[in-house]
Amino acid sequence: MKVLKFGGGCLKDSKSIQKLPKILSGFSDEKILIVVSAFGKMTNMLETHNYEAVFSFINQIMKELHFKSSDIALVLAKQKKHLQSSAKLSYAYRVSLGEYLSSYIVKIYLRNYHNVYISELDAVKHVFTGSWNSKLNSAVFHSIHLDDNLVQLLTFNKTVVTQGFIASEWNSQKITTLGREGSDYSAAIFGVALGADEIILFKDVDGFYTADPKLDSTAKLLPALSYDDAFALCSNGCTIIHPQTIDHVKLHRIPIVIKNFHNLNKQGTRIN
Ligand code: ASP
Ligand code: MG
Repeated sequence: MKVLKFGGGCLKDSKSIQKLPKILSGFSDEKILIVVSAFGKMTNMLETHNYEAVFSFINQIMKELHFKSSDIALVLAKQKKHLQSSAKLSYAYRVSLGEYLSSYIVKIYLRNYHNVYISELDAVKHVFTGSWNSKLNSAVFHSIHLDDNLVQLLTFNKTVVTQGFIASEWNSQKITTLGREGSDYSAAIFGVALGADEIILFKDVDGFYTADPKLDSTAKLLPALSYDDAFALCSNGCTIIHPQTIDHVKLHRIPIVIKNFHNLNKQGTRIN
């Protein structure tokens, strides 16, 4: 079983979404959980209440993916329902729309246009946090509940898509988030709970380098790293992975692989 996480910097336009079927075909014998974060900069748009920008961004993507009007209508109805009470929306509820729209569009695209037998799982109903911290705009991970439904979905459907970043308070069911860039952490949470044999994080960088390749032309890609070294790098300003991701999988010895979505031939970095 593998967890594949696609960040917003990977799925940022229709061209990049069109790469998904080929990537998935490389895992045709595997059970796959796909974790997506909001396409492109959607979370930023939602943070600033820029619903118009979100609307035109997803409309353009769906048009370029040649969605039938009935499929576009399904997605827009979902958006409308989510925003119906926009005046009362909490921060977490508001930004969760980005992950919900992205996972839904990925599901429709793969299922209706590429015959992928896929279902969608609502992360908010499975990943739980403590109380919402309105100063940090995030909450601390509490627990994950894997019901028979998820195990069955993965057994029979083989491919399931869910949302990164979003969760809910364990005692109130109110929507929360794990904090900005938290969908790596979500992938780790699902990977550990499902006993995945690998968590692959698709990113817009090759992996970890010996130095910042933008500043140092002699920097070399690190093909392998220990959990401790990766954690140290991430805690010291290297923003490639959300640091809690590594901490979370370390005890369970699940390898994390970083792959450049835009350069899949690159070896990437394997953390184990
Ligand atoms: N979409 C969220 C953010 O932009 C979560 C993530 O990308 O990991 O912060
Ligand atoms: Mg994002």
